[in-house]
Amino acid sequence: MTSTEFHLRNAVVMTGNGPSAADVHVRDGRIVDLHNRNGPSTVAAGDVDAAGLWLLPGGVDPHVHFGMPLRDGLSSRGWRESSAAALLGGTTTVIDFANPSRGEPIADAVLRWQAAADGVCLCDWGLHATVCDIAPERLAELDGLVHAGVPTFKAFLAYKGRLMLAAAELRLLMRQVKDVGGHLLLHAEDGEMNAAAEAVLAATGRTGPEWHPAAHGPESEIEAIRQAMLLAEETGCPLTIVHLSTAAGLDLIRGARAVGVDLRAETCPQYLFRDESLYARGGDDALTALMAPPLRSPADAAALLDGLAGGDIAWLATDHCAFPLEVKRREAAHGFAAVPNGAAGVGERLLAAFTLGVRRGLLTPERWVRVCCEAPAGRLGLAGRKGRVAAGYDADLVLFDPEATGTRLPVDGHPDPSLWTGDDWCGRIVDVWRRGEQVVRDGKLVPDVSAGVFLSRLLPD
Ligand SMILES: [Zn+2]
Repeated sequence: MTSTEFHLRNAVVMTGNGPSAADVHVRDGRIVDLHNRNGPSTVAAGDVDAAGLWLLPGGVDPHVHFGMPLRDGLSSRGWRESSAAALLGGTTTVIDFANPSRGEPIADAVLRWQAAADGVCLCDWGLHATVCDIAPERLAELDGLVHAGVPTFKAFLAYKGRLMLAAAELRLLMRQVKDVGGHLLLHAEDGEMNAAAEAVLAATGRTGPEWHPAAHGPESEIEAIRQAMLLAEETGCPLTIVHLSTAAGLDLIRGARAVGVDLRAETCPQYLFRDESLYARGGDDALTALMAPPLRSPADAAALLDGLAGGDIAWLATDHCAFPLEVKRREAAHGFAAVPNGAAGVGERLLAAFTLGVRRGLLTPERWVRVCCEAPAGRLGLAGRKGRVAAGYDADLVLFDPEATGTRLPVDGHPDPSLWTGDDWCGRIVDVWRRGEQVVRDGKLVPDVSAGVFLSRLLPD
């Protein structure tokens, strides 16, 4: 890590509370202080003149799956490639999920994930730990994980026979997470309902990818949220519903929050700006959009965007989990249920939300910064370090041109079809620094960027 000192001058600092005219002083990877300006600053040698640009905190994507092993040597797009896309898209911090195999100590899975990411991931990175069995020895591990900087856990009501917990099991897990001062993230789909629907579809020969959403109906998410919010209320365990996809689910969450339940929601750009019409097209369009929960109706998407803009949805993550199209095509021969779920997006989050949210007046610039940077960092144990342009924070900084048009996505030019393609996007990620090291220059990855570091997280009280 080189020792560097410089000033970023004349940018508009876009914070979660709105714009401010300030110059930013960076030294040894941190923001030393901000100097308010009245009028243009003089630019000295070594300074960066960012007149006409916005200065944003580096994006924080708290839900990604990089190099996730699935089965038979099949993994999602890897740590290096995915993290490079993240940097190009202005995201400097990611949080991935360590998934233990059945019977494996969770701490061992965390070590496996750390070994895979260490020295490879170009973003700074943290880990959530998935809990897929509630044997006493597994639950006994949670306290140690919290103290090892992994204070956030993931559970599934979906994926029967693999990851699914029954309601009674989820209750035990939530009690334990609450006891150790952790935070639970939940994939809220009812695995029993999905399995039953899938079996009927299979028995009647409806196995093409266009049938995937029929096995993951909105009622499945709604039912799972209903169950989870009762358990959150009963146990007092802080709970976030990840990748929320339905308007009715959001209404339930609003209702629970109104009576004081510690419950919040995450959503993803695909649930705001894409919809289920992609499945009806079939073929590669349906395969590209094959994820759980699936894309929903335009009315759901509009309600979620409204919830994100208004504060009822806490943050915007991507659930980036990209499998090669050729793999999806091959597996589709065995029916949609065999196709690996997930889509790329870690590099496109800021630009998609800017183009389709901010530029249309549906999301304010400050809310965009709040949900993509500040909120996930603050709520998930990176307060004081990530997600804000403020003195003492890591110098994770993005120079953004809000006037640019004709921007091409995906940011890394990956050839697989994506939900985010074309050359008519607005805004441009110009330069990016991660802990004071320039990692993107004029829209291109700087050669020989150093690797990111593991982030040991500590939840706020
Ligand atoms: Zn996920």
